[in-house]
Amino acid sequence: MSQLNFCPQCAGPLLPHCVDGEQRPHAYCARCAQPRYDHALIVVTTFVACGKRLLWVQRALEPQRGRWAIPGGFLERGETLAEGAARELREEAGVRLSPDQLSLYMTGTITFINQVYVGFRATVDSESCDPGIESMDCRFLTREECPWDAVAYPQVNDSILQAYDDLDSGRFDIWQAEMSSEHYELRPVAQRARK
Ligand SMILES: [Zn+2]
Repeated sequence: MSQLNFCPQCAGPLLPHCVDGEQRPHAYCARCAQPRYDHALIVVTTFVACGKRLLWVQRALEPQRGRWAIPGGFLERGETLAEGAARELREEAGVRLSPDQLSLYMTGTITFINQVYVGFRATVDSESCDPGIESMDCRFLTREECPWDAVAYPQVNDSILQAYDDLDSGRFDIWQAEMSSEHYELRPVAQRARK
């Protein structure tokens, strides 16, 4: 179950961790006599809207170099969720928003890649953006303008289409997505006032 094969502390081989005969979804290092966790990573993203367009970035880094994504990345140690999302916007698209300009919008679990994502939304008045070193390009695109055949993470296309639907309707619920290899569900968990 765990993707870790060697202990990050001592480099020793990891074993399945069993407690009372029950196997846990993480590994165990016999040398350190400690469990070794492989917890889900947290990805923070922001849907930045200008009119009916959303901000996309074309990745300059692997994985998925050359493909398009909603700006985002892994939360770093010591950051709040909104601080991480704002940092990624600045790094990937040169868009400077303060964390308190970001509104919670989506949460998601993607079990098959061991990630949790937290999506924010924000509105800007201008399509000004500037790819940093992590992006080859960045643009505000309508649903029709999107390069859907060149997206980096098609697993989250439904979430992005929902964001376009919400821009069209002007109603922004908070969405919860649960994705496993067998199951996909995107449902509203709270209703926000019309903006
Ligand atoms: Zn160890």
